[in-house]
Amino acid sequence: MTKTAKTGGIDELISDFSRFYTLTILYEGPTHGYSIISQFKKRVKKEISPSLVYPFLQQLQDKGLVKYTIEPVGEKERKIFELTEEGRELCTCLFKRFAGLVSIAIEPSLSVCAHCGCKVYEGAYKEVIDGKEIAFCCSHCAASYKECKTTAKQAK
Ligand SMILES: [Zn+2]
Repeated sequence: MTKTAKTGGIDELISDFSRFYTLTILYEGPTHGYSIISQFKKRVKKEISPSLVYPFLQQLQDKGLVKYTIEPVGEKERKIFELTEEGRELCTCLFKRFAGLVSIAIEPSLSVCAHCGCKVYEGAYKEVIDGKEIAFCCSHCAASYKECKTTAKQAK
């Protein structure tokens, strides 16, 4: 797999928890930058730096995963950010994958389908993707998973 030198892979982009959490907030619905910061603080009980949030939002926009609309607030205006369809798709894939990882960490004997997140107790369907062996419940899920990854990579 080739990576673009400038931005790195999409996995790298969202590897950081703060970014991941920012995505979960965006996933809930349109929101503005300040609201992301205050919701993050309220729920995680930690500060998130605007110098992380805004460049991240910019990166997501550059990749076509987030768009914004301008909303007037008194004499000023602010940007309301929201996930594009591609952005939502990517989030769904990520959240499923994340949920699967958590289940495996708690119950190592278990395989979790990397696509639909269902638990596989035996006879998981396995496929090597990007050099890693990944478990699925069936070949259909493996196919959808690969589609998700392609969507993520193609998003500009
Ligand atoms: Zn599945």
